[in-house]
Amino acid sequence: MIPRLLTVVGHSFRPRIQMLMAGLALEGALMGLGFVALVPFLRAVLDGDADAAVLPLIGLAVVFLAYAVTRWVMQLYGYRTGLQIANVLFERLGAQIKALPLGWFNERRAGELSVMSSEGIVEIMSLAAHLMRPLVVAITAPAIVLIFIAFIDWQLAVALGCVIPFAVAAFIWSGSHMHKADHSVHGTSVDAAARIYEFAQAQTVLRAFGRTDGAARELDRALVQSHDATMFKLRNAASGFLAFTLTIQLALTVLLVYGVNRSLGGEVDVPELVAIFVLGIRFAEPLLGAADVQDVVRSSDATLGRMQDILDLPLMQSTGNAKPQDNAIRFDNVTFGYNDQPVLDGFTLDVPANSLVAVVGPSGAGKSTVLRLIARFFDVEAGRVSVGGADVRDIATETLMDQLAVVFQDVYLFDGTIADNILISKPDASRDALWDAVRAAQLEATLARFPAGLDTPVGEGGAALSGGEKQRVSIARALLKNANIVLLDEATAALDALDEARMRASIEKLAQDRTVIAISHRLSTIQAADKIVFLEDGKVAEEGDHATLLARGGRYAAFCALMDAKLQSTGTVEPSR
Ligand code: ATP
Repeated sequence: MIPRLLTVVGHSFRPRIQMLMAGLALEGALMGLGFVALVPFLRAVLDGDADAAVLPLIGLAVVFLAYAVTRWVMQLYGYRTGLQIANVLFERLGAQIKALPLGWFNERRAGELSVMSSEGIVEIMSLAAHLMRPLVVAITAPAIVLIFIAFIDWQLAVALGCVIPFAVAAFIWSGSHMHKADHSVHGTSVDAAARIYEFAQAQTVLRAFGRTDGAARELDRALVQSHDATMFKLRNAASGFLAFTLTIQLALTVLLVYGVNRSLGGEVDVPELVAIFVLGIRFAEPLLGAADVQDVVRSSDATLGRMQDILDLPLMQSTGNAKPQDNAIRFDNVTFGYNDQPVLDGFTLDVPANSLVAVVGPSGAGKSTVLRLIARFFDVEAGRVSVGGADVRDIATETLMDQLAVVFQDVYLFDGTIADNILISKPDASRDALWDAVRAAQLEATLARFPAGLDTPVGEGGAALSGGEKQRVSIARALLKNANIVLLDEATAALDALDEARMRASIEKLAQDRTVIAISHRLSTIQAADKIVFLEDGKVAEEGDHATLLARGGRYAAFCALMDAKLQSTGTVEPSR
């Protein structure tokens, strides 16, 4: 457990942990000495010799005082160490989350991270803060008592010593059972947490389709599994505790029978018998204390293992030396897929600097994936994605992100005001720059409807805004960043035709001195592009400008015809056509 703790928190903690262990060992030794110091005092009292009791009483008081001071100091030291460990773990976990490939995150893992960063860190912190104490004391206090018993009666010391291997075996046996049970409790509780989150999030859809009962059954099933796993763990913990405790109680019984036998045989006098009983009980006490905490310690140890697994995950490495030379983007023979499902296969694309490129294609063709690879949310399996002539893997994350502004298909707004959400991309932006972005994103009219304007709270995830309003806020956020490359993933899908036309003007203006890649299903946006790329089966099926591709009569022409038919059937008019 200690080597694993050091691996997780870092080896700089070694002196602190060693100090903690040494201090706790001293505390246990003083506790043992206190038990031992009782014996001459009791002997003198039972003999009725008050004078002889004075010196042992002073010795007892001195040992007790030393024990009390050591315990107080070590308690503080343990808590302080625990707090430092918690701080380091928060930092390490935070740094790890920032550097993990986005592909690692899914609902279950997000749930696991949330459990780890709350309960998990508290569990690991409590190892140093108070759980190590009973374990270390359970070794040193009985050891001192045993040595003293050896001076009184060596045969009894040997008999007691023989119990130790059984106690250790019981401890290990119950530990292995607990490990399995703990694993199952963790898995089912993470699953239940993910189900609860999903159930809360999906309420609108579930109610709209009258599926709340079905989803509630799924949630019930997850909760029942979690409950069963916890009961299984409790039963295991109880049997482990029982096995360990019985071994210790058995030793105590042997000691009592042995002591009484020797007393009846006249081999030991009454004060000595009392001393043996007192020491026997004191020998067992710290061991029973360790039994009390063993399941919590095992559980913390398992948490430590899970924390180590997260901290050991491979990160996206970047040498960080390369600097993009311009705003051009290039895909060279790129192969990429999710979970072994290929999406791009030998994909090659040239996006000249300061051009507007539209990416179109059937749903699931990999259009969003192309944008994600430019932003290096994932690493390619083969080939190369370059920005400004530099491989994105060779560009430091901050440098790459400085180059890019991205508007995602699913807009996420943080729980703050509209201004907070726009300023995230450039916290030090002036009020004028903020308003320029607001106007360019066609957000001004929306703001006029809210009494608090830019200071209107958006609610969690932007729940207080409509889809179109959220999309405008996220476009304003991207425009404010004033980055060299703008990636738009269906950025105008939720806007009405008039706002979309105005937005298109903003996008065209942007592309005058920036590179813009837009995924869109709006023909008006697509037509305005310098180059249109039709993506199909993981490859570029066609590329060129609107007129050329239309004249070719291929996949793009068919796509346009389909769009036109759709527009006519819905009666929608695209302003530019
Ligand atoms: P759409 O037009 O519907 O948004 P798209 O062309 O943008 O689709 P992508 O989102 O790039 O398509 O997805 C391409 C394929 O990869 C799809 O089959 C999709 O199911 C799969 N996919 C996308 N993201 C993930 C992910 N995080 N994990 C696993 N598979 C994914």
